[in-house]
Amino acid sequence: MSTMIDDIGNKIKKYYMYRWIFFIITSMCVLFTIFFFVIFFKTSEFNLKILGMVALGFIVTFTLFILGIRKCSKSYYIEYPYYIEKINISGKRTPSVETAKELVDNYIINNGFYTIETHYNNINNWKYRFNEALTNLSKHRRNEWKKYYEQILDDSNAFHFVMYRNQTRYRQHNYKKTAYKVSMLEKEFACSYRWLKNRNERLAKIDYACSLSKYEHKNQRKLMTRNLRVQIMKRDNYTCQICGKYMPDELGLQIDHIIPISKGGKSIPSNLQVLCSKCNSNKSNKLA
Ligand SMILES: [Zn+2]
Repeated sequence: MSTMIDDIGNKIKKYYMYRWIFFIITSMCVLFTIFFFVIFFKTSEFNLKILGMVALGFIVTFTLFILGIRKCSKSYYIEYPYYIEKINISGKRTPSVETAKELVDNYIINNGFYTIETHYNNINNWKYRFNEALTNLSKHRRNEWKKYYEQILDDSNAFHFVMYRNQTRYRQHNYKKTAYKVSMLEKEFACSYRWLKNRNERLAKIDYACSLSKYEHKNQRKLMTRNLRVQIMKRDNYTCQICGKYMPDELGLQIDHIIPISKGGKSIPSNLQVLCSKCNSNKSNKLA
C-alpha cells in the first residue's frame, strides 16, 4: 500500500524535475543558436561552418521542444485507470447500443463479476493514493494537481468495452497474394461501475441464464396470451389497422407489436394492433 502511495507522489516529483531539465536545456540551445547567429552576421565573409552550427542549433531546439511538450504534460505521468475490455465481434453485425449491452451481459455471464469488482477497488485505491499525494505538495502545486485530478476523474465512463472485428485483407507482391488480418474498431461502449453492478444484480436474479434483453424478449412473448389476443381482436373489430381488411373468421389475422419486442416494445394493449398477414409482412420487410 505505502509503495503505491509513493508511486503517484514520485510521478509528480518526476514531472517537475523533467520540466526543469527541459527548461534549462531548451534555453541553453536557444542561447547557443542566438550566439552563433550573431557571430554569423558580424563576420563579413560568408562562413559556412557557422551557418551549419546555426542550423544544428535550430534542429536540436526543435526536436527537444517536440519531445519536451509530450513529457511536460501531466497525462504523460498520471492517467485515470480505465477498465478496458476487448470483445471480438468478428462475423457479427455492428452492434447497436442494445446489442452492445447484450454483449456486456454475456461478458459478465462468461467471466463473472470478479474482475470488474477488483478493478473498481483499484480505482478507489488510485483515488486514495492521488489524494494522499496531494497532501504532501506545496499549496500552489496542490491546487494545480487538484484541478488536474478533477479534470481526469471520469467515473461515469470508467468501464470501457471495445468491440472490434478482425478483417482479412490482401497484399499483392510479386504476383503473389498474401492474406493478413487487421483489427477494426467497431464500437466503444462505456459505463459506470454502478451501471454494471445493477446489471449484475439483475442477471443474478435470472441465474445468469441469458442476457437481460433476451430474457425480456422471452418474457414479452410469454405475456402474449390467448386472452390478450382476443381482447385486441375485439378492440380493433377484427379489422387490419393499415388496409382496413375485415377478418371475422380470424383467417390471416395477426396481432402485431407496434414497437417490436426487439426494440423494447411491450406486450401491452397500447402497443398491440390487428394486421392482416400481407400488411404485417410488409411492415417487417420495411423494418429489416
Ligand atoms: Zn392489411
